[in-house]
Amino acid sequence: MTAKKTDPDKLERILAEQRAYNATREKGYREQALKLYPWVCGRCSREFSHANVRELTVHHVDHNHDNNPSDGSNWELLCIYCHDEEHSKYVNFVRYGSGSESEVAPATHNPFADLKDKMDKKKK
Ligand SMILES: [Zn+2]
Ligand SMILES: [Zn+2]
Repeated sequence: MTAKKTDPDKLERILAEQRAYNATREKGYREQALKLYPWVCGRCSREFSHANVRELTVHHVDHNHDNNPSDGSNWELLCIYCHDEEHSKYVNFVRYGSGSESEVAPATHNPFADLKDKMDKKKK
């Protein structure tokens, strides 16, 4: 085995780190959002309790997962179904460009958007 252009092990490791990082970050804002807001889906008004709160997810209003103001203004609690719906709408919007809301940045939902950032400054 000689050197290849890409090292799949290394890539796999970076992706695993990224997933762990995303999971940690998500846990952080999720806990905050669940403290801040009543456990109700913002779309279908379904109510949640400790038994099923796993199905309640935090949606980012501007679709930028790095935008997490502590006042919760960029978060919306949605059940997993409405959350899916919300994202497919957004994907369609990005893909087919409907309407005039051109200020919405299409790249922010890229799961690797912050990968470079993370590599640049090894905080944590
Ligand atoms: Zn819902
Ligand atoms: Zn979302």
